[in-house]
Amino acid sequence: MSKYYPLVDVDSTGLDKVPLFPANHIADALGKCNFALAEIAPHRYTLLAMKPLDGDPDQYHIHCPMCGKAMAQVVPYKSDHLLGEYACENCN
Ligand SMILES: [Zn+2]
Repeated sequence: MSKYYPLVDVDSTGLDKVPLFPANHIADALGKCNFALAEIAPHRYTLLAMKPLDGDPDQYHIHCPMCGKAMAQVVPYKSDHLLGEYACENCN
């Protein structure tokens, strides 16, 4: 079963986003905030957005649910709601 991690801001800039405790359903994760990570493979995640972004999705630093380090974007964003794939170099 996939896990969905709600993402919250760590400061007022909103550029750093850290995962909370995972939910089993995407609606539960995105009901709490605009962003969530879907685990698609071990240490690999798709960034999802409930609402389209104003700015460039590449500006965000998405932190790993396991180790907390910022992850590398490995696939660029595809749409307003599918904001690319991220992998943790530290955990892999
Ligand atoms: Zn990690």
